[in-house]
Amino acid sequence: MDQTWDAVVIGAGPAGLMAAGEIARAGHRVLVVEAKPSLARKFLMAGKSGLNLTKDEPLAQMMPQYGSAAGALLPMIEAFDPAAIQDWARAQGRVLFTGSTGRVFPSEMKASPLLRAWLLELENLGVSWQRRWRWTGWDNDALCFDTPEGVQTLNTRATVLALGGASWARLGSDGGWADILASRGVDLAPFQPANAGLLVNWSDHMAAQFGQPVKGVRWQAGESASRGEAVISKRGLEGGGIYSICAAVRGGAPLTVDLLPDLTVDVVAKRLSVARGKASLANHMRRTLKLGAARTALLQEFGRPLPQDPKHLADLIKGLPVKYADLRPMDEAISTAGGVMWSALDEDLMLMRIPGMFCAGEMLDWESPTGGYLLTGCFATGRWAGRAAVRYLA
Ligand SMILES: Cc1cc2nc3c(=O)[nH]c(=O)nc-3n(C[C@H](O)[C@H](O)[C@H](O)COP(=O)(O)OP(=O)(O)OC[C@H]3O[C@@H](n4cnc5c(N)ncnc54)[C@H](O)[C@@H]3O)c2cc1C
Repeated sequence: MDQTWDAVVIGAGPAGLMAAGEIARAGHRVLVVEAKPSLARKFLMAGKSGLNLTKDEPLAQMMPQYGSAAGALLPMIEAFDPAAIQDWARAQGRVLFTGSTGRVFPSEMKASPLLRAWLLELENLGVSWQRRWRWTGWDNDALCFDTPEGVQTLNTRATVLALGGASWARLGSDGGWADILASRGVDLAPFQPANAGLLVNWSDHMAAQFGQPVKGVRWQAGESASRGEAVISKRGLEGGGIYSICAAVRGGAPLTVDLLPDLTVDVVAKRLSVARGKASLANHMRRTLKLGAARTALLQEFGRPLPQDPKHLADLIKGLPVKYADLRPMDEAISTAGGVMWSALDEDLMLMRIPGMFCAGEMLDWESPTGGYLLTGCFATGRWAGRAAVRYLA
């Protein structure tokens, strides 16, 4: 293999593949290098639970989901917005559908047909691949890789790093790149779990609820609130409703759940005040509030001993403290916060300390809830970094 390339993209996830396409389309020789034996493993994993490509909603509604990174990401997402992402996926031959909440999926739900078409397109554009090559840093100006054939070096004029975050290490994104960039003085925010579930030390009573969804509730942690669903699992609580408030929980905000968010506390108290007769409190609540098994179990688990007085019980139902042990470990989180700080990058996503080296995707310091926002950010920053690399090469 000729070891000199116009551009090298390191990391073959959605951000890296997007960057490679932009560079190749401009007529440059580009090599994509991936540490794993196959490409885009996390993207394929994302498809296992339904590949949520983007969210079909106006940018004014979408951008606040990126929190403090919204300003930096705005021009990139404006340039490759949810409509453009859908057009791109359709151009890959995918039929899309939009769920009632605006989440956009390929009809087959999986990532593999989209990935196959995308890789074929990139190959037709002349993109080359090296698998099982792990980037380890530099030898003078050359990029250095650990490979099955020993240490290899590559010379290139532009590099796009798209190395992912620091969760699901077995799929490739292990955050090992942070030390390499730190050694060159690049400012990094520490990795933290984002979109992580909660570990709960359940009592034995909860075993009957494992696998049950908790619907129609409102989770609240500090300023963050979510009406999303969660699932009661053996290890705790997980699902979109919990992921949405994960950042606030991580920041130490107390977590409560409103089990009847559509009723006021007075209405709940009034219903509970109806004469109970000989019914047990559990039966009385079932009759008057129709909480269902999962919500009743949570109330018993986190609220015991339950107050008998209707007003106090209503208060508890409307603001039940969720007693969790911890967030799930970072490696089990859907995504991670932290990474290359915006202050280390110019507007082209080029590292100010390393001219000609661009960064994209989850390795940048941003986070968002699930719902298609993560892939939207990865596609948009990958495309932006690829286009900036083309300008740099010119
Ligand atoms: C279970 C699960 C479900 C998800 N579902 C969704 C969803 O439905 N919608 C959504 O928007 N998001 C979803 N996500 C998140 C989404 O998959 C990620 O945000 C996205 O894949 C990140 O893309 P990336 O290109 O930045 O990094 P990655 O996809 O992590 O790719 C980085 C690549 O870099 C390679 N690499 C790392 N270090 C090196 C090195 N030193 N040398 C060479 N190569 C290296 C890795 O092997 C990896 O292939 C999900 C994630 C998980 C875990």
